[in-house]
Amino acid sequence: MLAFLVVLSAGELAEKVRSYHPSGDVEMVRRAYAYSELAHEGQKRKSGDPYFIHPVSVASIIADMRLDVASVCAALLHDVVEDTDVTDADIEREFGADVAFLVDGVTKLSKINFISKQDRTAESFRKLIVAMSRDLRVLVVKLCDRLDNMRTLDHMSDEGKERIARETMDIYAPLANRLGLASFRNELQDLSFKHLYPDVFADLERSAVSTAGERDAGILRVRQALTQKLGQQGFACRVEGRSKHLYSVWRKMHERQCTYDQVHDLTAVQVVMESVADCYAALGVIHSLWTPVPGRFKDYIALPKPNMYQSLHTTVFGPSHQRIEVQIRTTEMHGVAERGVAAHWRLGAGASGGLDPRAAAQFTWLRQLVESQDQLKDPTEFLESVKIDLFQDEVYVFTPKGDVRAFPRGSTPIDFAYSIHTDLGDRCTGARINGGIAQLSYKLRNGDLVEVLTSPDQRPHKEWLEWALTAKARGRIRGYLRTTQREKSMKLGHDLLEKALHEADISLGKLEHSSEDARRLCDALGYEQLDDVYVHVGYGKLKTSDVVDALAPLAPESSRRSLPPASLREGRIEAFVRKVTGRNSHGVLLNGVDDVLVRYTKCCNPLPGDEIIGFMTRGRGVTVHRKTCERAFETDPERRVAVSWDPKAKINRMVQLKVTTANRPGILATVGQTFHGAGINISEAACRAGEDGRAENLFTFLCADLAQLKGVMKRLAKVEGVVDVSRT
Ligand code: MN
Repeated sequence: MLAFLVVLSAGELAEKVRSYHPSGDVEMVRRAYAYSELAHEGQKRKSGDPYFIHPVSVASIIADMRLDVASVCAALLHDVVEDTDVTDADIEREFGADVAFLVDGVTKLSKINFISKQDRTAESFRKLIVAMSRDLRVLVVKLCDRLDNMRTLDHMSDEGKERIARETMDIYAPLANRLGLASFRNELQDLSFKHLYPDVFADLERSAVSTAGERDAGILRVRQALTQKLGQQGFACRVEGRSKHLYSVWRKMHERQCTYDQVHDLTAVQVVMESVADCYAALGVIHSLWTPVPGRFKDYIALPKPNMYQSLHTTVFGPSHQRIEVQIRTTEMHGVAERGVAAHWRLGAGASGGLDPRAAAQFTWLRQLVESQDQLKDPTEFLESVKIDLFQDEVYVFTPKGDVRAFPRGSTPIDFAYSIHTDLGDRCTGARINGGIAQLSYKLRNGDLVEVLTSPDQRPHKEWLEWALTAKARGRIRGYLRTTQREKSMKLGHDLLEKALHEADISLGKLEHSSEDARRLCDALGYEQLDDVYVHVGYGKLKTSDVVDALAPLAPESSRRSLPPASLREGRIEAFVRKVTGRNSHGVLLNGVDDVLVRYTKCCNPLPGDEIIGFMTRGRGVTVHRKTCERAFETDPERRVAVSWDPKAKINRMVQLKVTTANRPGILATVGQTFHGAGINISEAACRAGEDGRAENLFTFLCADLAQLKGVMKRLAKVEGVVDVSRT
């Protein structure tokens, strides 16, 4: 096979550097080129090519990233000390301390063997981090070296291939990502993937190649449509598009358990705008052109990624209804996305240049790591702390004492608290994260300093199971809930029964004090003791009306006769509920049974389909809030009960929508028709014209469930002239 090699000459490389760094010492680049060529003379790569091709390729990648002269020279010389007779001192004498430092750093990095026993790995990490923290250019040169090695890996033995590919996947690709070098990361991942799983890779590549034409045509259509539409709106923009790299596609297939054809967002389009304001404007234009996929918008401009990446991300259904990820950014952000940390390198500021202060601040984590290593006893602990931010599936947080603890990504302060002590978990009410107060649902982030806040009155709650991730925390919460379920049900049953008996003019208090009456009731119902009756009422296994009926013969004749049977009467609240809901079932199930007094709250006006939570009130049954209602959070957690909508119940609830419209003739008629079209009769409408040319309209109507409400809200939002639709 005839290898097609593009090897830059000394003049071409020097010219490349001069093109972006006119004041740089390109003469030194020429000298380093000649020096390296001479030193490597006669050496061959495994492919049989002259060895010197490798350092020139690495230097060329460095120049593509527009790094400074010292980095380019270090790239040319990076294997000289390791592979030839040349010494550190020689390099320093010939090219100065800066270049010598970089070459030394890269040489040291090359000696690190990451695939080894735990302690050696830890020690290697320590060396790597120390070298990196002194000068990020060391790592960038090393990454370029690794990239070129991966590109030419074919000639290695199978064993060597696998070792290098594994190390690249585990160590260098995450490092490239951490430095914001996305294109490096992608290529390193794809090359590692290819050598680690050759068959899978080949399959995937075949699928990708066979659909490439179709995909490219799709990208072209998207680019044309976007350029045209944004141009019409007066925006200057540049639109680029590319297929996603194979490794990321493969990971998606894995995560979603699907085939290649079922991965929808195979392409990404980059829209480069002139200003941040234009980026947001472009987002609006794109969303008006194509329907956005809900939940896929991310604003990395307002909240940059830790590696300084900034862009607006959205996914839309494109011209052929395929999903396309669109990334909108400014020219400067595009530079960062493409070149990562290298985009922040200031050229010409002194001999060595340096990171701009903003970028330097972003990488202080490295320096802090090195400083903290003095406090850590053994290399393994250091490894734990080094893993921070490099690896995505775990988070590492600190205890107030400075100990590092690892948790699965997505863990919360509850997991943290239980990992320290069961008691701490049971009593935790929240956490102080890096000094600020955080909710128990807070997702731990790398490097967080976590301090658990407790209260002696706190107990584990059912909703904690939604937040806790670790086996230890979940097991303990479940156990606690099981044992307290009986107590809770007993209390609830007692309250429900008290209310029901009161309606029948029977005093539960008296019953409790008469062991004889209590005994007879238990016998009649088949329970051991009164507590069991409460528990079963609380669980919903025993109806209060059955208890009333069982008690009826016990009650004095006179008082019983004066009232109709309890089952035929209803309480004030029940009557109210019935009036409002217009139905016989209350619509809400408590422990799966609908025999509960229900009061819907005015504060959040829950509707079937909303997630709800109940709150036990003494003698007034259960009030129902939406789970998101702030009032619900204010209620005593001890009295909260889980409730659900009765799927069999036909409920009509009064709801109110606020529709903000442009104040113009005919719009109310259109809005009214929209309600009618959704099968809704408006019971009340209040319309008020504002001074800003807008009108606020409040519509009150009966609605069956959330689906119907959402349906009409969606229709309303599409009406021309409607600015906003919200539930009040
Ligand atoms: Mn090398």
